Amino acid sequence: MTTFKSACPLNCWDSCGFVVEVENGKIVKIDGDKEHPITKGKICGRGRMLEARTNAEDRILYPLKKIDGEFQRITWEQALTEISSKLAEVRQIYGSTAILHSHDYANGGLLTKIPNRFFNCFGGATELIGSICWGSGIEAQNWDFGNAASHSPEDIYNSKNVIIWGRNVTRTNMHLFAYLQEVKKKGVNITVIDPIYNGTAKIAHSYIPITPGMDGILAIGIIKELLQLDLQDKNFIQNYTVGFEDLVDLTDSISIEQIEKMTNVPRETITNLAQIYSDGPTATYMGLGMQRYGNGGNTIRLIDALVAVSGNVGVPGGGANFGNTQVGQSFDSAALTLPERKKESRAFVMSEQAEKILTASETPIKMIMVSCGNPLTQVPNTALVQEAFQSVDTVVVLEQFMTDTARLADYVLPSATVFEEEDIYYSSMYHHYVNYGPKLVEARGEAKSDVWIWTELAKRLGFGEDFEYTREEFIEMGLGSLQDRGITLELIKEKGHVPLPVKLVPWHDFSFTTPSGKFEFTSSLGEMKGYDGRLQLLYPRESIYSDKELAEKYPYSLLTIHPLRSNHSQNYHLIEGLQTVKVEISKDIAEEKGLEPDDRVRVYNDRGEITGKVQILKESSPNIVCIDEGQWHIFGGSVNNLTSHQISDNGLGSTLYDCLVGIEKL
Ligand code: SF4
Repeated sequence: MTTFKSACPLNCWDSCGFVVEVENGKIVKIDGDKEHPITKGKICGRGRMLEARTNAEDRILYPLKKIDGEFQRITWEQALTEISSKLAEVRQIYGSTAILHSHDYANGGLLTKIPNRFFNCFGGATELIGSICWGSGIEAQNWDFGNAASHSPEDIYNSKNVIIWGRNVTRTNMHLFAYLQEVKKKGVNITVIDPIYNGTAKIAHSYIPITPGMDGILAIGIIKELLQLDLQDKNFIQNYTVGFEDLVDLTDSISIEQIEKMTNVPRETITNLAQIYSDGPTATYMGLGMQRYGNGGNTIRLIDALVAVSGNVGVPGGGANFGNTQVGQSFDSAALTLPERKKESRAFVMSEQAEKILTASETPIKMIMVSCGNPLTQVPNTALVQEAFQSVDTVVVLEQFMTDTARLADYVLPSATVFEEEDIYYSSMYHHYVNYGPKLVEARGEAKSDVWIWTELAKRLGFGEDFEYTREEFIEMGLGSLQDRGITLELIKEKGHVPLPVKLVPWHDFSFTTPSGKFEFTSSLGEMKGYDGRLQLLYPRESIYSDKELAEKYPYSLLTIHPLRSNHSQNYHLIEGLQTVKVEISKDIAEEKGLEPDDRVRVYNDRGEITGKVQILKESSPNIVCIDEGQWHIFGGSVNNLTSHQISDNGLGSTLYDCLVGIEKL
């Protein structure tokens, strides 16, 4: 048995350090690396499941081609020759944008950028822009601050109060939870604002249930109270912000009574929150769910505004912590992806890819290449995605398992797992360490790394010289100027984890990267992009305030949160206990509909339906239905049967949570 340091590749806040045991060329155990400065030896079940994923019996180990509706094993030579011929043929007849590259973030390795290099050197393709995950929140912070940057995890030691707003850290950000437990013992006050009473709320001093999608309205209420109590940070507002008058006009346009009614948060609580914010430093940690709405960007902007008005921007222990894109920005993406090589381009918004495939007329989509993703399960409006992908002549999927998307493909190419290839891993969500992941075992069967697959296709298409690099050379390309600062691959290998040179307390000099150089309550960047840059009163599109008729027809708000034991759709087939659709409902729905735990129900709206077993939420805001995302079709189907593919108010984000449903007992 030999033990190696490695890293978690999963799309997660925490980017953990691993210790991996290898015996006879097989991964046998994964544990946490105690020497990792942030993750400190603790990892979650999703990380541990990477051992099962690597060794699973149902892993795809050979290239497959669908012939007469059945997959048959073919050689790599046949697969690569046929796929490269189809790529060349489609490019010649229709142009390279007749090929869609559907890509997502199943893996956080630096070299997952290599397919972009492939398509740029190929001459272009239709690419996906925007995000089903966090697009509107990132754009919101770009408008307000000039970038989305979080405080370093250790900065929580400087906080007096912590507000966890819509982020269930016990499930998705476990190391922040560890910090919360630690600082709570030192007297830090913790508040959780969330529609659902969750594991994080259990350790909080106060839990505030809120109507889904109304977080921005609550932020307006707290700002109103700050102003009314004269608790705002006048110096910061006067010297380092623009557009404050517009914000005051906005707060004047709605009464506290209306805010109480819309948010389900009483005035006393709103006043208390204003006092907490003014008695800082108060750190705000925002989650991603509340920006997956038609009003999602505006919501994050209003919370940013609250953090700014209360004087918690740029100060140790404060911050409007959403994403930490300064981490990913440390790398030289352009060196890896060669955007200048692109001759043609077209972009589809990620959430809208199905609709765009079906309606692209001038250059139709003739071929789809899927890497690092499972759009049939993860992209909203499953029925439309299925129709779109089925309408295309050739679908090629790089995968490890027979996912819903792979099942629909014409070719499935078996890709290596994290321990079968070398890469470096980071997350632009939380901490700023880059971790090293060595190759520890040979890929099973005939599985190959994605880089090998793109390289072999490039060779057959005549641009193999752009791929004549080793993995190490590609990683060094991506490290770019970091190497001049001493952050070399050699150092990352030696240490296992290296901090990147990012700001640990962003905006500490009150110098913002907005066009004005100030914090912008009214965004000039937004205006330049053709939006009204002012903060606004916006509600979820599917709510009684925006569409009364729809809200009467479908009275319940659907939340689609991350599963505890699966990273998105990745583990459902490996864990028997997950192979059922769990429909969590608020107590009021259970009473109204006479539902008991384990009753079977149908959840439905105009887009589709899903059936599952009832669980009753212990405490939550009323009228809530919650179904974990990622379920496979064979186990009951994805919650995205119900969700909308509309995009959010900015940043080309998704509206996955902006979804009303009905429910009935079966
Ligand atoms: S999924 Fe997240 S918390 Fe779990 S091991 Fe991986 S990085 Fe750590």
